[in-house]
Amino acid sequence: MIKLPECPICKKTIVGEAARQSDFLPFCSERCRRVDFFRWFEGKYAIEEPLSPLQLADEAEKLEQRRDEL
Ligand SMILES: [Zn+2]
Repeated sequence: MIKLPECPICKKTIVGEAARQSDFLPFCSERCRRVDFFRWFEGKYAIEEPLSPLQLADEAEKLEQRRDEL
């Protein structure tokens, strides 16, 4: 049985359209890809616990603001 790819950020199974959008893989979306990048960038990568959708939205929003500042 083939294991479907899973987004390492939000743990969502990547199916259908998202799985074909190789731009984002292994993430489910541009947003998760960016969250991962900034986590790595800030040395927070050791934090392994998955974020809740609310936390994720909050974190992505902060990162978005920060990106505008860079
Ligand atoms: Zn995701």
